[in-house]
Amino acid sequence: MSRYQDRAARFESSSGVKAVGSFDKMGLKEDLLRGVYAYNFERPSAIQQRAIVPISSGRDVIAQAQSGTGKTGTLGISILQRIDTKVREVQALVLSPTRELATQTRDVVAALGEYMSVQCHACIGGTRLGDDIRRLEHGVHVVSGTPGRVYDMLKTRTLRAAQIKMLVLDEADQLLDRGFKDQIYDIYRHLPPATQVVLLSATLPHDVLDLTQKFMSDPVRILVKRDELTLEGISQFFVNVEKEDWKFETLCDLYDSLTVTQAVIFCNTRAKVDWLAKQMEDANFTVAAMHGEMLQKERDAIMTKFRQGTSRVLIATDIWARGIDVQQVSLVINYDMCTNRENYIHRIGRSGRFGRKGVAINFVTTDDVTLLRDIEQYYGTQIDEMPMNITDLM
Ligand code: ADP
Ligand code: MG
Repeated sequence: MSRYQDRAARFESSSGVKAVGSFDKMGLKEDLLRGVYAYNFERPSAIQQRAIVPISSGRDVIAQAQSGTGKTGTLGISILQRIDTKVREVQALVLSPTRELATQTRDVVAALGEYMSVQCHACIGGTRLGDDIRRLEHGVHVVSGTPGRVYDMLKTRTLRAAQIKMLVLDEADQLLDRGFKDQIYDIYRHLPPATQVVLLSATLPHDVLDLTQKFMSDPVRILVKRDELTLEGISQFFVNVEKEDWKFETLCDLYDSLTVTQAVIFCNTRAKVDWLAKQMEDANFTVAAMHGEMLQKERDAIMTKFRQGTSRVLIATDIWARGIDVQQVSLVINYDMCTNRENYIHRIGRSGRFGRKGVAINFVTTDDVTLLRDIEQYYGTQIDEMPMNITDLM
């Protein structure tokens, strides 16, 4: 925990952002405070100390903090403080880039709000529209969703926007990137003009920050410098596999280390995920696999098993890169080197949640060496050759 207090001094905040060192002193509603403590949050993390109060006061906020340091907790607590549960209308809308993250956030908000009789609903693709319609008609306070489904619900006015007072973009840089940007604007245009906007992410590149001027007014900015973004608790290594063909054997050699706790293995394409899962199974290793082409039912089943710990090794695409919180994950393998600077930080951040230790191992072919060096330089971090004793570091 002290790690976060130490890091605190290194935030670049806009003037006037004070750190509040205890949940008691944030002016939170009593039933919310009860939920926070019951959820086993004792002390607020650095980002929670700085962001909850301004968000709860209704200000537009840009909140950046390292992966696993409590941003999703921040948005949950702030939303619950802002809404009036007596008004049975949607008042807060959270958007996330993946269905699994939207669902996780719904669960976190519902858990923190356990003593507030709050209704939270996940509006995500791959589920029956009829279920969404029924839930929304019944009356919900918070919607956590993915852009496509949320937009559909807004367009058809199944999701009434009149009482929405806050829009929260989790993993904001991804939501404001090419693939989602237009949809986000479409959604934004359906909301009341005075809607508060809150952005959160571990990575907020300059072009995204520039964009925020278009739809945020005088935001409070809590930012982290690039060279402060990697966590000390996550050790990063590379294995020089030289050729693509040698990756598989390297992974098999590492399998025993993978199952010490839980591990996520990233590949760059869906086809590669399927291929690798098949190879591993054929070699008698137990693995699970997940990507965006699978049916939502299958994805849900995989998530449940992995969260329970019944499955311990998961092979996935970048669908798993952001936000998903499974505290037992202590090892991340980039079977394919990450070609996106931001996602690299998010991928390795699936381990080392909230001050836990983690290990990230990059499989590097001769062609990948420049990618690895670029990451090192961009984040001012060091990625050493993998030592023999990696399990000691997890
Ligand atoms: P981020 O969104 O920054 O990646 P999360 O909000 O998902 O991080 O939190 C990461 C983990 O830390 C979660 O398991 C969460 O329950 C836990 N956590 C967050 N805030 C606190 C806190 N104040 N005290 C204890 N654990 C916390
Ligand atoms: Mg998060």
